[in-house]
Amino acid sequence: MVCPTVDRHAHLEGSLDPAWVRARAAEKGLVPPATLEALWRKEAVPFEGFIEAFFFGCGFLRNAEAVRDAVRAAVSRLPEATGEPRGVDLWLSPHFLVKQGAFLTLDALWKGVDDGIREARAAGVRIAVIIDAVNHFGVDHGHEVLDLVLPGRPSWVVGFSTGGLERVPFRDWAPVFERARKAGLRLAAHAGENGPGSNVRDAILDAGVERIVHGVRAASDPALVELLVDRKIPLDVCPTSNFALVPDLGAHPLPALIRAGVRCALGTDDPGVIPTTLPGEWEMARNLGLSSEDLEILRRNAAADAWCLASSTD
Ligand SMILES: [Zn+2]
Repeated sequence: MVCPTVDRHAHLEGSLDPAWVRARAAEKGLVPPATLEALWRKEAVPFEGFIEAFFFGCGFLRNAEAVRDAVRAAVSRLPEATGEPRGVDLWLSPHFLVKQGAFLTLDALWKGVDDGIREARAAGVRIAVIIDAVNHFGVDHGHEVLDLVLPGRPSWVVGFSTGGLERVPFRDWAPVFERARKAGLRLAAHAGENGPGSNVRDAILDAGVERIVHGVRAASDPALVELLVDRKIPLDVCPTSNFALVPDLGAHPLPALIRAGVRCALGTDDPGVIPTTLPGEWEMARNLGLSSEDLEILRRNAAADAWCLASSTD
């Protein structure tokens, strides 16, 4: 059975290669935080520790070339070309890079992403960008993210999402999502990862989200699983990341979700911070006990619901 060829969830900032980050850190005389070293060794850390590890690499995205390198790194986690359409749905946190961290200008960020996307396209890889706001930074932050990205938004920015710690209720975030939707962006959210499964329901019903990242906590709630099936809500599931970051996950719910009819597909999430590749996630899915029918569904879903393969990104 052939590995899917679309990475359905990768963060640009989290895709930087460990060797690249080590080299940049050494140039600046900096030492990677213990949490990042632990994740590179494939050890689980608390979500707060992951955020520290994630932000460390962001500090080296100081020009368009570095951003292009990050796009390249995300593309490098795809399997070799097989003739099937290849692509990455790429999450990006411009507000953190441009405003909070002030690492580079918005123009430099857009240029780096654009250069990376053009290079990927020349190699037959399609990329769509989903703008990520941080849930626990609050709703005002969400509006600031949109203030930053909506004017002069590049055509490859197709979606808006929240990530981070699931602390602020989705009903509070609803006006931000509505503003993004009215501006023509599709809506996704990290939910049911470090927060309860009920956040998945709230993201869909309160904030109008059409796609869920992770959602693994939803599996224990039959009514919620039914909602996901009825509304054909895609779930981007990232087993390596889940095992590292979701406390008390137990047996991974991916097999149960697929068998219930939820439209799951695989993503690498932060493959430079929590090392993996798309073939690595595929191998992990096989080891979770999926049947060949389950795997075929998982493979098909990757392309069927991918925003990078939607015609609007042309
Ligand atoms: Zn993510």
